[in-house]
Amino acid sequence: MIASMRSLPAGVDMAEIRLDCLEGDYPHVRNALRKICEARSKPLIITNRPVREGGFWEGSEVCRLLLLKEAAEAGADYIDIELGSIAGISPVDLPCRKIISYHDFEKTPGNLEIIYRQCRYSGADVVKIATMAADISDSARMLDFLRSHSAPPPHVIALCMGEEGVPTRVLAPAFGGIISFASQDDDGASAPGQITCRDMLQMYRFKQINAETGLYGVVANPAAHSMSPAIHNAAFAHDKLNAVYLPFKVKDPESFMDSFVELGIRGLSVTIPHKESMIALMDDLDEPARRVGALNTIKLEAGRRLGYNTDVAAALGALCAAMERTRPAGLTGCRVLLIGAGGAGRALAYGLCGRVQELIIANRTESRAAAIAAGAGARSCGLPEIKGMRPDIIINTTSVGMHPHVDATPVPPSVLAHRPIVMDAVYNPAETRLLREAREAGCVTVSGFDWFVEQAARQYGIWTGARAPREIMAEAVLCRLN
Ligand code: NAP
Repeated sequence: MIASMRSLPAGVDMAEIRLDCLEGDYPHVRNALRKICEARSKPLIITNRPVREGGFWEGSEVCRLLLLKEAAEAGADYIDIELGSIAGISPVDLPCRKIISYHDFEKTPGNLEIIYRQCRYSGADVVKIATMAADISDSARMLDFLRSHSAPPPHVIALCMGEEGVPTRVLAPAFGGIISFASQDDDGASAPGQITCRDMLQMYRFKQINAETGLYGVVANPAAHSMSPAIHNAAFAHDKLNAVYLPFKVKDPESFMDSFVELGIRGLSVTIPHKESMIALMDDLDEPARRVGALNTIKLEAGRRLGYNTDVAAALGALCAAMERTRPAGLTGCRVLLIGAGGAGRALAYGLCGRVQELIIANRTESRAAAIAAGAGARSCGLPEIKGMRPDIIINTTSVGMHPHVDATPVPPSVLAHRPIVMDAVYNPAETRLLREAREAGCVTVSGFDWFVEQAARQYGIWTGARAPREIMAEAVLCRLN
């Protein structure tokens, strides 16, 4: 623990020592506590969480509380006392600041105000409420609660746990929270949804977040492994904009929009599985979003929700840039095999229709391909029929080959033998099995990575009106992928 404390990155202001994570009996932990307090390099919060509150302390309650008293006497800056433990310890007499904490690992209860008052009037210098977000709207409610209690005393820590709770951890300073918690490394989270100090400080620029910070994010499910926070936060940092971009794990887009937009969101990316369903929640759409029936970008402006689709122009831009080297005539006269009939497939069908000689849309669920083909003047088929085809261009827009299923490919190697141009929408990994086999067969390949960076750059332009720093954005994603 002492070594961990000393190796915390610059920018971390204090360390929470969890005595319940130490092994050994009371005398052993007491001894360790003294050594830790002597060796501290930063202000300390000392916590000794019992199992019933999500911690690891299995010893007697008397010894647990005694250790907290001893921590106060040994010079801890804060000790954390659970609201449910107040009867066994008198916070008023302790010579340090007291965090009175409340945890619910199941849900975010409706009575946050009552819990706050119970903590406050138990002698809290800091009230801490940490609850599980069952839905992203719980995080919105927690942030709203935090904002309405941001004037001390007492100071407030109000966080939601779980993937849906990430925004409450990052946005704490924007809404008046005094402390947020981050883990030392990827394996060190002490609560569900906790992110690392490195991401908090470097990717989210936590120390620069304030009430004026512009809020952006990606609406997705799942959202934790999205590359979008890395790419957009890198662009904001490069352009020195007071803005932050967050992952929003959203099950119900309507309730998300109703709860989070009120908190001051300015722009959103939208990805699987909400690109089509969120169309109905917009006040206006750009032409590609309307024609495709799917959006990937939202701008909130003067109370209006404006939907855009940057996938179409980004994908065609990446494809045409690669073709310049090998096929000066571009798309004209090409026979294109488009695999996939989801949001990305639909976007490309819209972008390609009328520009190529022949468009064939192949999909696992053939009826979905047929529905798109009917509107795009194309032919449709199932995946097994791909085997006998000889297209000039193959575009995969299914998720086949995406991490972690990196050994999968939607295209039999025989179809690559006549060296078509091959583009893959999948960008994680940057070179999929399909692209590797195409490269080995001598094909020109276009990575989903180029498409991804381009669609994000166009989103950035829509939100900020500025030219996106594409190289910085590409570097941020590559860094993350590696
Ligand atoms: P989506 O709307 O959910 O569509 C998924 C597509 O993949 C459908 O055609 C689906 O076929 C097919 N599919 C899924 N699992 C399959 C399997 N095991 N075998 C065969 N087909 C399968 O998703 P989306 O938004 O179109 O995105 C699809 C992929 O494109 C994702 O990997 C996404 O990350 C990528 N993408 C990349 C960019 C970029 O910027 N590079 C932009 C957009 C999308 P069924 O219809 O039969 O279910």
